[in-house]
Amino acid sequence: MTTLLRPFDVNREEEMRQPLDFNRKNVLKHLDRVFKAEITSVSRLTETEKLFHLRIIDAAERDRFSFLPGQFVMVEVPGFGEVPISIAGSNSQKGFIELCIRRAGKVTTMLHRAGPGARVGIRGPFGSYFPLQKMKGHNVLLIAGGLGLAPLRSAVIHATENRADFKEVRILYGSKDTSQLLFDYQYEQWRRVDGVDLSIIVTEPAPEWHGPVGFVTDLLENITVTPDDTYAIVCGPP
Ligand SMILES: Cc1cc2nc3c(=O)[nH]c(=O)nc-3n(C[C@H](O)[C@H](O)[C@H](O)COP(=O)(O)OP(=O)(O)OC[C@H]3O[C@@H](n4cnc5c(N)ncnc54)[C@H](O)[C@@H]3O)c2cc1C
Repeated sequence: MTTLLRPFDVNREEEMRQPLDFNRKNVLKHLDRVFKAEITSVSRLTETEKLFHLRIIDAAERDRFSFLPGQFVMVEVPGFGEVPISIAGSNSQKGFIELCIRRAGKVTTMLHRAGPGARVGIRGPFGSYFPLQKMKGHNVLLIAGGLGLAPLRSAVIHATENRADFKEVRILYGSKDTSQLLFDYQYEQWRRVDGVDLSIIVTEPAPEWHGPVGFVTDLLENITVTPDDTYAIVCGPP
């Protein structure tokens, strides 16, 4: 065993000669950065879900922020925490994000109390995305249950905005009851797009409901799918 007889200047050691970058600023990609965003408007969708429109505050950062349908962001409420939330809107307007948030616990309850002008941190986007490029030229089957329509809405918007890219677009959506249907104000708009078909089913119908009753999977019995020519995206509770 060697014993150091006297201290020496460690700065001469090889490991000390490498530039120190504690904050990993050199390797930080935009994914690791927090974008400051402002809530520009909030609408109530159901008793427990609200739709938030956010805008990244800095114009240069807004230009840098891009995502693909299916991805999610981490939303930070300063002092309360950070939650993963799927992006529910279109990616055609850079730096503008729509989030459909269910009031679930600590952070989401704080978000539900926030109105226009409130600021949050956004990290991301994260996660894999729907392979919409691969789906071009094929039939598209979009299946959502409950809050699953939030991430799927970005694919629905993409498919309706780029209608010519796909063959038939079929949307199947299931919810517990009509009061919990998300984005119901958009259904007619989606249905009006040529070649887009939307079917809705509920498990606990109110007396005034005349549509199908059951789980979203029951809707599959009424449709014909050509598996070799169809891509399906499924989002919902386990
Ligand atoms: C990839 C992904 C996408 C999601 N997209 C949406 C969406 O679009 N809309 C929506 O309303 N909800 C979404 N959720 C669920 C949402 O993240 C949770 O409801 C939220 O984290 C609850 O946080 P809270 O502080 O309000 O609740 P609390 O129960 O008080 O949670 C405490 C902490 O636990 C963690 N946590 C709790 N639940 C979850 C969860 N399901 N997933 C991950 N971390 C959790 C969070 O860090 C949270 O701060 C998504 C979850 C994931 C993983």
